[in-house]
Amino acid sequence: MDNISKILLRMDAAHRKSRLSKRPPMLVAASKDQAPDKILPLLERGVEAYGENRIQEAAAKWPELRRRYPGVRLHLIGALQSNKAAEAVGLFDVIETVDREKIALALDGEMKRQQRFPKCLIQVNIGKEPQKSGVMPGHLETFLKFCREKTSLPICGLMCVPPAHQPPAPYFALLQTLGKRHGLEELSMGMSGDFETAIALGATEVRIGTALFGQR
Ligand SMILES: *Cc1c(COP(=O)(O)O)cnc(C)c1O
Repeated sequence: MDNISKILLRMDAAHRKSRLSKRPPMLVAASKDQAPDKILPLLERGVEAYGENRIQEAAAKWPELRRRYPGVRLHLIGALQSNKAAEAVGLFDVIETVDREKIALALDGEMKRQQRFPKCLIQVNIGKEPQKSGVMPGHLETFLKFCREKTSLPICGLMCVPPAHQPPAPYFALLQTLGKRHGLEELSMGMSGDFETAIALGATEVRIGTALFGQR
C-alpha cells in the first residue's frame, strides 16, 4: 500500500475511535522542499490541501500546479513577515501563522485591498518555547480581542506545533481547551509522528510531510 493510502486509513481509524467530531479531519500535505514531481502523485490521488512554509517557494511552485488542479487549497504553515503579507494574501487560502498584532494589521489591510479573504488561524506557542513563534497561551485572549475588534480577519481556529521530544497529548488537549473557550472550531495540530493523538484530541486538520513524502 502506498503512503497516502496508509495515512488516510490511519486518519480514518483515529477519527472513528475518537467519536469526537462529526466531521472527519482534513489532511494537509506538508509539501515544503518537495519538487512538483513528488507532489503530482498526491494531486492525482485527489489530495487538495497543501501546506507550505515559505512564500517564495510556494510562489515558484504552485501557480503552475494550480492551473492543472484548480481545486487545490494552499495553507501557509510557516512564519510570516509583515512585508510578505501582500504575497501571502494573494497566494494562500488559509493562513495558519497569525501570531502578532503587526501581522494581523498587515493581513487585514491587504485583504481589504485585494478583496480576498483567506481563512486565518492563530498560531499558539503551546509549549511556551522561547525559540518558537506563536502567541503565548496566556496572551491568546488579548490577541483574539485585538483581532476581533481592530481587524476583520476571518479567524476560525488555532494551530500549534508542540515541543519536540515530549509527549504531545497534553499540548493538544490544551489547544482543544483554548479553542472551545474562544469558540474557534478549527484545530490544526498533529504531524507525521503524532497525528493520531491529535485526532483523538479533536484535530480538525493534520499537517503531514515525512510520512507522505519520506525524509526531506
Ligand atoms: C514540516 C511541517 C509539518 C510536517 O511535519 P512532518 O513531521 O514532516 O510530518 C507540519 N507542520 C509544520 C508547521 C511544518 O513546518
